[in-house]
Parts: sequence; structure tokens; C-alpha cells
Amino acid sequence: MPAQAPSPSLQCSDYKIGWICALPVEYAAAAAVLDAIHNPPSDLAWQPKCDHNQYTFGQVGGRNIVLAVLPAGIYGIAQAALATSMMAKAFPSLYFVLMVGVGGGVPSETHDIRLGDVVVSRPGAGQAGVLQYDFGKIGIDGEVTPTGVLNKPPPEALTAIAAMEMRYMMEDGSLTDIVDTVLSKRPKMRTKFAHPGVNTDILYRAEYNHVRGNDCRSCAEKMIEIRDPRETTEPVIHYGLIGSANQVVKDGMTRERLRKKHNILCFEMEAAGMMDSFPCLVIRGICDYADSHKNKAWQGYASMTAAAYAKDLLLSMGAAEPRPSPQKQPVRRPQRPQRSVDPRTREDYGKKLLQAAENDNMAVVRIFLEKGGDPNTADKRWGVTALHYTAQSGHNGTTRLLLLAGANPNVQAKFSKNTPLFEAASHGYEKIVQQLLEYGADITGSGKRGRTALHEAAANGHLACAITLVKNGADRFSIDSDGCMPLDLAEKAEHEKVIQFLKKEA
Ligand SMILES: [Zn+2]
Repeated sequence: MPAQAPSPSLQCSDYKIGWICALPVEYAAAAAVLDAIHNPPSDLAWQPKCDHNQYTFGQVGGRNIVLAVLPAGIYGIAQAALATSMMAKAFPSLYFVLMVGVGGGVPSETHDIRLGDVVVSRPGAGQAGVLQYDFGKIGIDGEVTPTGVLNKPPPEALTAIAAMEMRYMMEDGSLTDIVDTVLSKRPKMRTKFAHPGVNTDILYRAEYNHVRGNDCRSCAEKMIEIRDPRETTEPVIHYGLIGSANQVVKDGMTRERLRKKHNILCFEMEAAGMMDSFPCLVIRGICDYADSHKNKAWQGYASMTAAAYAKDLLLSMGAAEPRPSPQKQPVRRPQRPQRSVDPRTREDYGKKLLQAAENDNMAVVRIFLEKGGDPNTADKRWGVTALHYTAQSGHNGTTRLLLLAGANPNVQAKFSKNTPLFEAASHGYEKIVQQLLEYGADITGSGKRGRTALHEAAANGHLACAITLVKNGADRFSIDSDGCMPLDLAEKAEHEKVIQFLKKEA
């Protein structure tokens, strides 16, 4: 998980987007894709007894996100509805909620759904992308005809989905890049969250039930549906109707019957509760085929692909809202990599550009960025990236190149936890501090000894950096793990001008 950063200036009303998960595995994937994790907002004074949500606060691309997970072991539509309404009460500016997690896929001739793919609830004629198929009028045949139209996602989300759909048609790698980045930063997650291998993605014929045991060793091979192998493991996104009900579908024939009747792409158990009360979008990573066969291997990876899609959506929803602190420029979004390259080549070229950044060789960094090298490739031992090096050496041009190519300004080195902003402030490179902030660097993030970038600027007597940081909302009263504020550190080192500035600002 990203390091917890003090965020004294944020309040409940600064959180406008909610993200709800039902399972701990989904919650872990969600927290892992956040750019930064915040402390709870300063005015989240108490939680009513009926609010059982566990909250985590953070940001993606400059947007503040509040994450919640349903209480352990309690799922279903009513619980999700309760969680959403509690969240809406606690966070008065909330206008959009994402429900992100796993679901059972409904493959058909028209939708070649595979494990790890993502299904997104998209509104269509007469429906809002989610259908509660066990709720409505019961006809003379005993079948339920669903009634009512649930709440649609906001227009900016729909526009972003359309833009992403086009982008995914043209290039591969958007989701696998996000997943790979998370797993390379958090090796511990690899066992549970990495792609389990296409050979474990088995679809049995709908009418063939599971034989016995905790796996499908006894199930007949001749009942496996033959499907063409895919060229890559990049998840495919399917847009359409998600079926939501309090009962989990675990039967191939029921799956087929409901598919034929409603054209459902995926089954899950929470979305209908949310959609009813709030504009929201449901994003489901496919972890099984809603039949009786046993396959637990895909839950982690499917949680991760769903979280990766949610992150890409948040990044694609146009300019992020301004920070609550007085920041003048909007956060700039990095451009997408120029071309899609094979992930191994991308990593290999990433290592070369990392080396070039360490040697302060802008020309070589540019060459490997243009070839599609990953600007976020980190040194295996120390976890430092090219952006750390350019922030340390004060190279403005290379820093800008890296940021334009999508380098993450909030990446933390492995042991020191230092971010590029921390390095630039520590070494006194004001222009780089400025650039990093423009690209969404978290001003509240802390590195070694719990110090913020402002602590570093003050301790090392870098007045220009201190001014820029304060102007952009850095907290002068933030306290490091030794109990020192930035002013204390400036006084200790007798940096007169910084002392005067910080006192004047106070
Ligand atoms: Zn089976």
C-alpha cells in the first residue's frame, strides 16, 4: 500500500468520488492502485454506529477517493445500499460511486468472455447497465419481469468510457501496465494477484455440472468448450448489462436461461443496491463462469484488472478537480506512451533509460522513451526510478520528458520512501518541484523520518523551494517522526532566510 501521508488540509467534503468493494481481496487491489493514501479527513470526527464501512482515503490522478469495504461476510444488495447511503451521509460532496470487484462471467457467441476480462455496466435502451433480475413483477409463468430504471453514472464518466473504448481498440497494454506496475512495486501481492495462466481458464459446457471435490480434476475433459486461444493476455473489456441479485448464480443452466432472457454479461450480488440510490458505475473482473465448477485461482487477478480499469477511468475523466489548497495550475495528465510495445521490451528499454537518467544523459533517455521504454521502471535493489535521479541531479528537461511519458511523480523509493518531490526539495531544485506539482505530485507525501518535501527544503535551507511548496498548499505545521515542524529544522540548521519566511507565513 502507498505510504500514509499526512493530509491536514483535506476534509470530508474534499472527497467526491466513492469506491466500494465487497471482499477484502477487492479492497486490497483497490488500495494498491491508488497513487497515494491519505490520513482520514480532519473533520471525520465520528462514525455513526450503523456505519460499518471500513474507509481508506487516497487519490488517483489528483482526484480524492474514499474507499469502503462491506463488513466481512455480509454481502448482498441491501448491505451495498446501506454502505452507499452511509458513505453519502459522511461525505456530503460525493456525486459518483464506483462498485469495483469480481463477478461471474456469462460467455456467449456474441461475447467471448474469458477469466480476467472486465465487464462494465453501460446504460442502454431502457436500462441503466444493472438489472436486479430477482426483483419486479412476477408473471403468470412465475418468471420475474424487472421494473424500474436505476441511477445512471454521470456524463463525464460515460464520455471517459467511450474514449477508453476507442483507445483499447487501438492499443494494448493499458490495464496490464497498471497491474504490472502494482505487482512490481509489491512483490508480496504476486502470488495471489498475478495472472494465473491461460491453461487454468476452463469453461465447461453449460449443461455439464461439477462432479466432486474442491477442484475440477474429476470433471470430464470432453465437456470443456473449445475456444480459440487469444494472442495476448491483455484483458478484454465488455460493455453491457450486469445482473445483480441477492442469490449467487452457481449453475450453468441458470446462467444460460438468464442470459437468453436479459442478455446479461455478468452476475454479482451488490450493484443493484447501489445503483438505486446513487449515480454509479459497476466494474467487474471475471473470476469464474457462474457455474458449479470450482476455480478460486482467478479472484486476485480479476480484482486487480477491475481495479486497474477503475483507475484508468478516473485518469480519463478529464482534468482533476483542483486541490483544496491554493494551487494555481491544474494537474497535468501525462501523455500516453507513444506506441504499444511488447511488455518485455518495454521493461528492457525502461532499464536502459533508468541507467541513462542516472548518468544524466538526456539524449539516451529520450531515445528509450520514444522506443516505448517504461518510464516507471525501478531499480530492483533500491526501488528508485528515473524521475528520482533527475530530481536529485536537477535536470529540468529530462524531468519534463519523463513526466510527459507518464512517469509517476508519487513513486516511493524502497527503503527511504522518498518521492521525486522529496528529492527535488531536498536538493533545492525549485523548477523541478514546480514541474512535479504540475503533474500531480502529492505535496503531503512523506519520506524518510516522516518528513515532507517542505521539511527537506527547510532543513537544507532552500528558500525558493520552500516558497513554492507553501504557495502550493504545503502544511507548515506538519510534524515529522522526530516531532519537528519545518521551521524547527530550519532553526536547527540556522537557515536564516527560510526561518524568516516560515515565521512570516505563520
Ligand atoms: Zn468441475
